Amino acid sequence: MLSKRLEQVAAYVTGTTMADIGSDHAYLPIALVADGKVTSAVAGEVVDGPFQAAVNNVRAHGLTHKIAVRKGSGLEVIADGEVDSITICGMGGPLIADILLSGMNKLNSAPRLILQSNIHTASVRAALIKLGYTITAEEIIKEKRHIYEIVVADKQQPMTLTAAELKFGPLLMAERSPLFLEKWTREYNHLQRVKESIKDNPEQTERLKEIEQQLIMFKEVIG
Ligand code: SAM
Repeated sequence: MLSKRLEQVAAYVTGTTMADIGSDHAYLPIALVADGKVTSAVAGEVVDGPFQAAVNNVRAHGLTHKIAVRKGSGLEVIADGEVDSITICGMGGPLIADILLSGMNKLNSAPRLILQSNIHTASVRAALIKLGYTITAEEIIKEKRHIYEIVVADKQQPMTLTAAELKFGPLLMAERSPLFLEKWTREYNHLQRVKESIKDNPEQTERLKEIEQQLIMFKEVIG
């Protein structure tokens, strides 16, 4: 059974074939194929241990004819046009952004991207702008005290985002769900504590200025 986080990601997968990059245990492609949501999948993994775990799990589910487990970094494990959706989950935003930008030659066929970063989702949104993708859905979910953001992007007309939209997410910001407010109030309070701890330190004046600007932006968004 998938976690709530991966269930939510799975709900956005479209088409008949998908690739899960950084698949680790390969739970996501296994569930999607087993449920008939896609007919075939690629599970990509760069690290040997997780790669073996994916190979073993796919075999244990009797799905070796439908799920190709490939060892390699990022999008190098797929060919352009091979899949309809790509999922990249459970990594930091900068790593997801790096995988997308260094694999941009695999995105000419415009697969849907479903991206779940653990932190710094702003880097993911910035990469999507560079790639000419548009954010078509955003989700925020909580699982065991962790709050996760999921960004879904399709290739449509190019998008532009304000600094606040990059950080908070254009759709999440418009929706202002209780979870969204919980996440950013938590971060606001954390920044306030950092500000208090450095406010009398003359070596931290630049950082203090940055934090004060951030706090103003936070206040405008969370109210
Ligand atoms: N996607 C799964 C999930 O969300 O539950 C597993 C997340 S796990 C925390 C991150 C996985 O990404 C690890 O197994 C790691 O080896 C893999 N990974 C990190 N960088 C990668 C890259 N450049 N290409 C492929 N896999 C990568």
